Amino acid sequence: MESIVVVGASLGGLRVVENIRREGFSGRLTLVGDEPHRPYDRPPLSKEFLRGEVEADRLSLVKKSEAELSLDTRYGTRAVGLDLAARRVQLDSGEALDFDGLVIATGARPRRIDGAAGKENVFVLRTLDDARALGLALRAAKRAVVVGAGFIGLEVAASCKAMGVETTVLEAAPTPCARALHPALGDFLASFHHARGVDLRCGVSIEAFEGEGRVEAVRLASGERIACDVLVIGIGVTPNVEWLEGSGLSLENGVRCDESLRASVEGVYALGDVASFPHPLFDGERMRIEHWTTTVEQARLVAQNLVRGEAKAFEKAPLFWSDQFELKIQGVGRPSPGDEMAIVCGSFEEGRFLALFGRGGRLVGAYGFGRPAELVKARMAIEKRASFDEARASIQG
Ligand SMILES: Cc1cc2nc3c(=O)[nH]c(=O)nc-3n(C[C@H](O)[C@H](O)[C@H](O)COP(=O)(O)OP(=O)(O)OC[C@H]3O[C@@H](n4cnc5c(N)ncnc54)[C@H](O)[C@@H]3O)c2cc1C
Repeated sequence: MESIVVVGASLGGLRVVENIRREGFSGRLTLVGDEPHRPYDRPPLSKEFLRGEVEADRLSLVKKSEAELSLDTRYGTRAVGLDLAARRVQLDSGEALDFDGLVIATGARPRRIDGAAGKENVFVLRTLDDARALGLALRAAKRAVVVGAGFIGLEVAASCKAMGVETTVLEAAPTPCARALHPALGDFLASFHHARGVDLRCGVSIEAFEGEGRVEAVRLASGERIACDVLVIGIGVTPNVEWLEGSGLSLENGVRCDESLRASVEGVYALGDVASFPHPLFDGERMRIEHWTTTVEQARLVAQNLVRGEAKAFEKAPLFWSDQFELKIQGVGRPSPGDEMAIVCGSFEEGRFLALFGRGGRLVGAYGFGRPAELVKARMAIEKRASFDEARASIQG
């Protein structure tokens, strides 16, 4: 291999180029990213950065400089096409980059709602520029409405409250984070937010966004109107794969990869929020994981597989955290709302606990609310394919 191109210059893209060099690849290495910024970290965008507690320069992900990595960069440049026969990536600048190895790390972008899109006080949150614009608007706002009580929506709501903005969260599902969280944990989280003054409403349906040019109020199906100065849409993301359409690469809810994160063509890999792959720990269930830690771990594996010519499977249990007010929530594995649940270590009343999830007799997931040490143990147990009973007995506090 003489040249490797990495498309997407964020967490996954930067960590993979670092690992590619660490693996000893000395050929031409190019990182292409459509944002104008050098790679920066996203988690603080809904937390400290949004609240104005840290400056943008503290978000940099760059550890070794581009020069130290002998890295060619094309920041502010979008990949617009892939020619697999010629093994070439087409850029919007007109330049084309030939590659022997290609890593796709183009992540995902927020979904929008037609009725609200394009209005002046409507925001999504994915990029540094999104966070700057939202932060500025919140500093002048009295009332915010957040649509979607997923993890990002709830983090934004907590930050809004901390900034002194009255905040309502509107969610269609009966409990927050319903796709990820068992209803009992969702109820706990809802009470936690209510107790801190967030007006969190689940099971509601939005009828219309009122106002010309700006959204003045959200009208619910019940007829109620909720006025807002700022509206934040947090209803999930779509993987960035449009530039690959028609290339012949298999796409299915992202870039379709095998267990080793290799895409449907030799020498082409995907990782991070854009990669869909069958996870060996969960009976080969195909998944796309939108977590920081998982992206970093995938970057390490992809660099190894690409440079060494190996095909090792990605076997790490998905792991994420979310900070909401004073609470650190962590999740590991692949729990689903229908799983058997056991609270070990702590209790809802205490406000700190570890919940284990079992399916078919196996430990498949855990959520820690203020329980980082025990969550690490749960992760190890999931990766060892421990039985539910065994894990309950060994992790019990
Ligand atoms: C506000 C926010 C808070 C978060 N908080 C947490 C948290 O607390 N815990 C946690 O575990 N995870 C969190 N995450 C998720 C975590 O940040 C992501 O999992 C991680 O950023 C994924 O990295 P990635 O490199 O795969 O994709 P991304 O970070 O999305 O980067 C992809 C990059 O590729 C660029 N790109 C897209 N298309 C093209 C193209 N055609 N050509 C060139 N460049 C392109 C994009 O603009 C972007 O810069 C958070 C995410 C957000 C947005």
